[in-house]
Amino acid sequence: MARISNNVCKLCRREGVKLFLKGQRCFSEKCGVNRRNYPPGQHTRPKKTTDYGTQLREKQKVKRIYGMLESQFQNFFTLAQRQKGNTGENLLVLMERRLDNVLLSLGLAFSRFDARQMVAHGHVYVNNRRLDIPSYLVRPGDEISVRGSDKLKKKATEAVEMNKGRPLPAWLEAAPGELKGKVIQLPKREDVTVEVNEQLIVELCSK
Ligand code: SF4
Repeated sequence: MARISNNVCKLCRREGVKLFLKGQRCFSEKCGVNRRNYPPGQHTRPKKTTDYGTQLREKQKVKRIYGMLESQFQNFFTLAQRQKGNTGENLLVLMERRLDNVLLSLGLAFSRFDARQMVAHGHVYVNNRRLDIPSYLVRPGDEISVRGSDKLKKKATEAVEMNKGRPLPAWLEAAPGELKGKVIQLPKREDVTVEVNEQLIVELCSK
């Protein structure tokens, strides 16, 4: 399985925020943001940023956190605009509902990258049907399970062990001792734990 590059920590330092791209390391003292809390290559005064730059940074940040390409992000944004309510909140809730994100939130993967690989390689089932689309949007009642070789199950079990101390979002239900979980309701804005100012993204994308 492809390994995520060490350079991803540079992305966090550039954004000045933890993007949680490296699993357990992100919660340890080894985290690149904890160790060197300044942008890569910058040891002097920070540069001034325009409004456009700030908005763009926020959008890039959310894309990196959820591992989305521009075209996919635009599809999500269009969908968020079509829904009732606040577009920014709708956007973040849609991102939380991604199957790869749900896998991570259930503690069945080490990172979003890892979760995406598990889905893309066909190890994830939704309602007993194999689903290999990481951007699939889960719905209330969906049951998600990890299946595959002993090696794969061992890895998922290790991820569960690693994620033990992390709180489970209120909209999800885990099955202790089993590699599965259930969506009990749609997430709300307050369930989104990533630090994002969604209003800046809406301002940028609505121009
Ligand atoms: Fe690296 Fe920390 Fe970012 Fe994780 S949160 S990718 S360890 S800098």
